[in-house]
Amino acid sequence: MPNGNDKPKVGIFGLTGCAGDQLQILNCEDELVRLAGRMDIVDWVMARSGNDHTCRLDVAFVEGVVATERDLETLKEIRARAKTLVALGTCAVWGGLPAMHNEMSREVLQREVYNTHVQFLDTVEALPPTHFVPFELSLPGCPIERHEFLRVVNSVLSGTEPDLPRVPVCWECKVKENTCRVIHAQEVCCGAMTRGGCGARCPSHGVACSGCRGPVEEPNYDANITMFAGRGISWLEIARRMSNFSAPVWMTQGLEQEVRRESKR
Ligand code: SF4
Ligand code: SF4
Repeated sequence: MPNGNDKPKVGIFGLTGCAGDQLQILNCEDELVRLAGRMDIVDWVMARSGNDHTCRLDVAFVEGVVATERDLETLKEIRARAKTLVALGTCAVWGGLPAMHNEMSREVLQREVYNTHVQFLDTVEALPPTHFVPFELSLPGCPIERHEFLRVVNSVLSGTEPDLPRVPVCWECKVKENTCRVIHAQEVCCGAMTRGGCGARCPSHGVACSGCRGPVEEPNYDANITMFAGRGISWLEIARRMSNFSAPVWMTQGLEQEVRRESKR
């Protein structure tokens, strides 16, 4: 952080994505006003005009995936400017929804989405920024949780490590004494494989977790797949639910083979 009375210079950037994480920052409202007293947001095109696009940054936050060559150039420029780079949101940390069908070619994906041959897209395989440049911190979430963002900002400004949850969503779900979607509804719930921090929001509303916050440190996909299958859930349903966000479902060869076999029946 800078010496003297200078406030740290901060930039907030979005690559390809829905901009939901930047919206969450805007939603911080009162807290954002307080933070503005401690830092100088000099480059944030979503929220202000008159940005400085070249100055050195003490902290830069990046959301979204690299899905075009331009995204990659932008990311490298940000990295070169920033002392501390923070990946914001599951897209930036893991690839998120844009990366969920990377096993399919871009041509096929474009045809599936636009139903015609398109010329105006210059997309490349969607990958998280963390794949290309080093980041000092990562904050997953789809979108990020406001309280976690504020915790990260406070830590970065004070030069400490943010204390973010490492427990799975299941842990938070159990604390809330929710009825388990797997045991009582025979659903594919990704809570055991997914990093907590959302307070088990979906199971608390009677909906299975789809893994939007990305995996815990040891997600143990195979054991979960075996457990779902043992409860009579179809391989197709397991694959469909687990491929939404974080589970590299097609890397689990056993599941891929079972899905192919079931599809042929
Ligand atoms: S409902 Fe989902 S998150 Fe909650 S305990 Fe069951 S598997 Fe875990
Ligand atoms: S319960 Fe799962 S899908 Fe729902 S917000 Fe939390 S991590 Fe995301």
